[in-house]
Amino acid sequence: KKIIIAIDGYSSTGKSTLAKHLAKEIGYVYVDTGAMYRAVTYYAMKQGLIDMEHFDKEGLISDLDNIDLRFEFSPELGYAEIFLNDQNVESYIRSIEVSNLVSKVARISQVREKLVEQQQKMALNKGIVMDGRDIGTIVFPQAELKIFMTASAEKRAQRRYKEMKDNGVQIEYDTVLENVTSRDHLDTTRADSPLVKAEDAVEIDNSNMTVEETYALAMGYVKD
Ligand code: C5P
Repeated sequence: KKIIIAIDGYSSTGKSTLAKHLAKEIGYVYVDTGAMYRAVTYYAMKQGLIDMEHFDKEGLISDLDNIDLRFEFSPELGYAEIFLNDQNVESYIRSIEVSNLVSKVARISQVREKLVEQQQKMALNKGIVMDGRDIGTIVFPQAELKIFMTASAEKRAQRRYKEMKDNGVQIEYDTVLENVTSRDHLDTTRADSPLVKAEDAVEIDNSNMTVEETYALAMGYVKD
């Protein structure tokens, strides 16, 4: 039987690394819902609707019908890349500029409604591993396996900082830590679908675990 695996948690806890790995191992489709919120944010930036000083929420809401998102599986990468109005935006949506604005965009109920509806359609007749903030609570409350990931803010910032440095990004550790903690704050305090552990989710705190250890632990739950 094909099941739904929902992976939620704080920013930079390794959700997507785990989700990708699980999906590959069991032959499921992996969906990164953060990429969808990031692509909408990138669109809003391009349209001049949002920057660090202002946010034209009504403008974005009335423009939502002009935003088409789809995923296309890349055999080279082994996962799906996101397309915004037919443009592959995978390489633009992970920037610190997008990261600093995405949680503001994700607070808009109309944005969430649109993306949640699209996410729910993706699981029809498919085994799926989906990661985000509200997958086990809102998108798939019926998911057979729910994993909630946590780790200390410092550990998360250190990992993200190292990853960015390894990718040649010029950035200060404090900037990364500030982004991680401010996104946690915005995500947990929003009125609509705040980030919260689903009652029936298993929690994994990987502050002191390697990627492999996290995967092995999660895989144990999949097999149960
Ligand atoms: O997962 P990722 O860090 O790429 O997500 C970026 C942001 O998108 C999160 O900080 C959160 O504000 C928002 N998000 C959300 N609901 C989801 C996935 C992401 O609100 N299901």
